[in-house]
Amino acid sequence: MVAKLPEEEHPKQAFGWAARDESGVLSPFNFSRRATGEKDVCFKVLYCGMCHSDLHMVKNEWGTSTYPLVPGHEIVGVVTEVGSKVEKFKVGDKVGVGCIVGSCHSCHNCTNNLENYCAETILTYGAKYYDGTITYGGYSDIMVADEHFIVRIPDTLPLDSTAPLLCAGITVYSPLKYYGLDKPGMHVGVVGLGGLGHMAVKFAKGMGVKVTVISTSPSKKQEAVEHLGADSFLVSRDQDQMKATMGTMDGIIDTVSATHPLVPLIGLLKTNGKLILVGAPEKPLELAAFPLLMGRKMVGGSGIGGMEETQEMINFAAKHNITADIEVIPIEYVNTAMERMLKADVRYRFVIDISNTIKSTH
Ligand code: NAP
Ligand code: ZN
Ligand code: ZN
Repeated sequence: MVAKLPEEEHPKQAFGWAARDESGVLSPFNFSRRATGEKDVCFKVLYCGMCHSDLHMVKNEWGTSTYPLVPGHEIVGVVTEVGSKVEKFKVGDKVGVGCIVGSCHSCHNCTNNLENYCAETILTYGAKYYDGTITYGGYSDIMVADEHFIVRIPDTLPLDSTAPLLCAGITVYSPLKYYGLDKPGMHVGVVGLGGLGHMAVKFAKGMGVKVTVISTSPSKKQEAVEHLGADSFLVSRDQDQMKATMGTMDGIIDTVSATHPLVPLIGLLKTNGKLILVGAPEKPLELAAFPLLMGRKMVGGSGIGGMEETQEMINFAAKHNITADIEVIPIEYVNTAMERMLKADVRYRFVIDISNTIKSTH
């Protein structure tokens, strides 16, 4: 049997930008989306955030990528069609899709609102959907997804700067809550002031927590303190600053996308402190046992969040006026934006203006 072309697999014509190989360079791509099923919501994509995971994936840094790959899992837009059994959404609603578009709905994780940890989770892009076709992400003009994986965006939130909440937002909100780092008066460190890091600062501040940013970029200090609301700023390569802050933090959210030393971070923790990894470097990190033993410290991890918690996070953001600080770009700029993200040169999230700059060739 001859495999169908991506543009012939489904009835709905779609247009996006895809990486074709491990060079990670994105270019225009015609494909198709499935007809809106009875539990599906179809929406016109207006904005899509650029996550560092998109960069890892287009370059196959985790070894799981297939091509062509249309990235994007911080997707927002307006509903254009709903299936006959859709209960929560109607045409015209503002909605979003994050990192996952499917899960088994019956395992221990799924029945405890932890679809993100289901063994059968289907990722928004580069994964196999139930019908055997490959999922394509939000660097594209339309989206179709099961309503279970659709999040409602309240009218008070601007769509462009809300897009990054769908991944960066939930990825830091969930561990702050789960690991109990959300108590007013606590002191939490945030390592890496990029997309995830700046959201961690904003959510932690919204929870009443004292926040210290730990960064390799001294140039980000003024903005972190004066604009993002961080209480203090440490340059991680400055030994004196790090030493002076040892033993002061209840927890740390580590968002760094590349290999970096953990032991100096563990030193910043109080007794019983928690170092939580959310960054996903391609190579293993080095961990010595003694710094953990001396002070009963722990290292944990966290991956995005379940659908119920994602909606809770969006509602929290609406209540506390939390959105991402973004640089809106046209799709033609996407390859340059990837290069800048790799150099930590982004304040603090690129968001692609999909509807005004992705032009269908159909
Ligand atoms: P990002 O915007 O590129 O931010 C990463 C930040 O890490 C940079 O801005 C930089 O901050 C710091 N950094 C970069 N290289 C470094 C190095 N060699 N040493 C020390 N610090 C370095 O990326 P992001 O979108 O926030 O994503 C961060 C990581 O989280 C990625 O690995 C991504 O794949 C992962 N992620 C995980 C989840 C999850 O579910 N757990 C979800 C989304 C993303 P400074 O300039 O302040 O040092
Ligand atoms: Zn992401
Ligand atoms: Zn499941």
